[in-house]
Amino acid sequence: MLDFPETAQQSAEHARAALALIERHRVRLNPRNYAIWYAYAARASAELVKALDVVISNRVDYTEELGRGLWNRYLGSQPDPTGESAREIGEKLHKQLQDVMRLLDEAGADTKAYGKSLRSAAGQLSGTGGLKAVREVIASLLAETQTMAERTRALETRLEASAKEADELRRALELTRRDAMTDALTGIANRKAFDIKLREGAMQVMETGEPLALLMADIDHFKTFNDKHGHQMGDQVLKLVARTLSETLKGRDTPARYGGEEFAIILPSTAIGPAVVVGEQIRLRVSSRLLVRKDTQQELGGITLSIGAAQFRMGEPLADLIDRADAALYRAKTEGRNRVAAEEPAPTVVAAAD
Ligand code: GH3
Ligand code: MG
Ligand code: MG
Repeated sequence: MLDFPETAQQSAEHARAALALIERHRVRLNPRNYAIWYAYAARASAELVKALDVVISNRVDYTEELGRGLWNRYLGSQPDPTGESAREIGEKLHKQLQDVMRLLDEAGADTKAYGKSLRSAAGQLSGTGGLKAVREVIASLLAETQTMAERTRALETRLEASAKEADELRRALELTRRDAMTDALTGIANRKAFDIKLREGAMQVMETGEPLALLMADIDHFKTFNDKHGHQMGDQVLKLVARTLSETLKGRDTPARYGGEEFAIILPSTAIGPAVVVGEQIRLRVSSRLLVRKDTQQELGGITLSIGAAQFRMGEPLADLIDRADAALYRAKTEGRNRVAAEEPAPTVVAAAD
């Protein structure tokens, strides 16, 4: 978590600056956004400052979703749970914690009582009671010790069970978050995950100066395929295309299902030239697959993709990048389909002079 070591006067200045920024960027004034913009004004996190600078210079709309992302990344110590089931899991985890606290309280009370017994036994032993009295004290001490040991064991068992359950809940939460980012049919990133990844990619460009490219791919004459072979076979094709994308791409690249039969591929550290090469590899792989119906072994022919490529320009809104990749895709379609087209005009390559 961040720290705010400033004086009262400094923090009043940061608060005023934060409110001015919130107004200027038409941000909703809620506690989360206030914390984010206060931290920005106070320069409390270099990373957060960099991220918001990118948002501002890109003229990206400051949405609640964006705020949530910034909060999770730079301010929150807990992941921001998405969706109803995530909230339920969060509540369960909270209850687990309360249970553990209660157990620890009980354990504390037991230990206190045990300590009291020991002290009173010590008092009795220091008195003059003879051997019989000493034996009685020792016997009662043994019984107390036994009880305490049993209680400790029981507590250990309960704590272990509690930790296990917390672990399971954490795993469930992780799965829920992954579900929210995954396209149910194809298993690759969905539109929401694409938006987040593209924004992250653009921020990386600002930080590192490395290029970033985007491919938009659309299945050719897919309506005809559906009409001929049925929607279910069409769905199989979508899965096959997604699988081919995942197999062809490197780990840092993100293939996503952008919409119905349209896919988007984010290529970090990639300029337009190499992006077209990647697009060509994808196009070739998809077009070289012969589709066969599993149940009847009937050959369904092949399918092809048209692909448009564009490179991110420093400071531009992300919608512009998507528009240029879309326009290139449209050109690939009109020029005959089953091809890759790059944006026009080609981006100027700024080479470092040395
Ligand atoms: P073009 O080469 O110009 O892209 O032609 P097209 O037929 O692919 O384009 P069009 O936009 O006319 O049709 C897209 C089709 O994609 C229509 C729809 O039936 C199909 N489609 C979209 N989403 C899904 C889906 O989830 N499953 C299946 N099976 N088909 C889908
Ligand atoms: Mg389409
Ligand atoms: Mg199509």
